[in-house]
Amino acid sequence: MLTKFKNVENEKIKKSFLKVMNAYQSLHDYEVVLIQKPIKSSTMQAQPIIDFKGLLKGVKRYKINLAEYVRDSNELKVADLPKDVLTGWFAHELGHLVDYEPFSNLQMIRYGLKYLISPKFRREAEHAADYIAIDHGFKNEILATKRFILEHDLLEEDYKAKIRKYYLSIEQVEMCTVDKTFMQPALDL
Ligand SMILES: [Zn+2]
Repeated sequence: MLTKFKNVENEKIKKSFLKVMNAYQSLHDYEVVLIQKPIKSSTMQAQPIIDFKGLLKGVKRYKINLAEYVRDSNELKVADLPKDVLTGWFAHELGHLVDYEPFSNLQMIRYGLKYLISPKFRREAEHAADYIAIDHGFKNEILATKRFILEHDLLEEDYKAKIRKYYLSIEQVEMCTVDKTFMQPALDL
């Protein structure tokens, strides 16, 4: 596994991230960096790292940006999130990387633009990340994350509205049946 951490000090964050990475075998061939830094109007972002060398040689690398605080809150530290909520969140973000994997760096630039301009494409991408997380055995954690965001008093209504608009609903996730053949044994770290 080529997982790296940048500015991540908290052990619970590292453990949750590695637990999810371990279950996502198709990502083990790629460099994946978790970077903790301030992010504007988001809590986490999953992105390809595209530089000149990557475009020239086709080497694919990825990063997850992680904020110090849950979006728009000055009180809710990511490090203080319950373990299953954090794990579900990472399962969704790393689900994006699994979704990106078939695309070349050049195709990912187009993907990024489509995500920005097309609400329909954005919804499909967010649903895909949730489904990939569920397929890898993280259904309960995905439910924990959704419930946490949608039911939390400290989080603003426009954040909850975004989650309702683009992501799978709690009911949709509850209806998902997991095909056990997809599941990897999750290493309990
Ligand atoms: Zn997402």
